Amino acid sequence: MRIGHGYDVHRLAEGRKLVLGGVDVPYERGLMGHSDADVLVHATMDALLGAAGQGDIGRLFPDSNPAYKGISSLVLLDYVMERLTQGGLRVGNLDATILAQRPKLADFLPQMQKNLALHMGIPPERVNVKATTEEGLGFTGTGQGIAAHAVVLLEP
Ligand SMILES: [Zn+2]
Repeated sequence: MRIGHGYDVHRLAEGRKLVLGGVDVPYERGLMGHSDADVLVHATMDALLGAAGQGDIGRLFPDSNPAYKGISSLVLLDYVMERLTQGGLRVGNLDATILAQRPKLADFLPQMQKNLALHMGIPPERVNVKATTEEGLGFTGTGQGIAAHAVVLLEP
């Protein structure tokens, strides 16, 4: 077995859609970034690449490449999974945490789990997505941004 950890953060800004785990979450602001800035999928991809010993998404999908502008991060996840599958690895399970003061995410977590499971080729029961506020502390607590942590297990 191989274990990997991923962490990502994006700034919240006006005039952007908020996409988390491939779900359009209704909110007055969204995350800034070159792609759709899906912080949960980005943390997940970094965990997958970390477990596989294949670097990180910055190396794989550089911001300087116009091909990735506005792209759905789930498409990037498909590409990461293709690499892992070619390397003879499959996902055992994923556990992730979103750090966001607002909006409330509980209602959207099941769909995020389904999306991630589908794109990683595993049953939804093997994907766990949690959300927590940070008691008003730090950049997530004051609503400046949203962060995500992910831990994955890869199996041969
Ligand atoms: Zn990111």
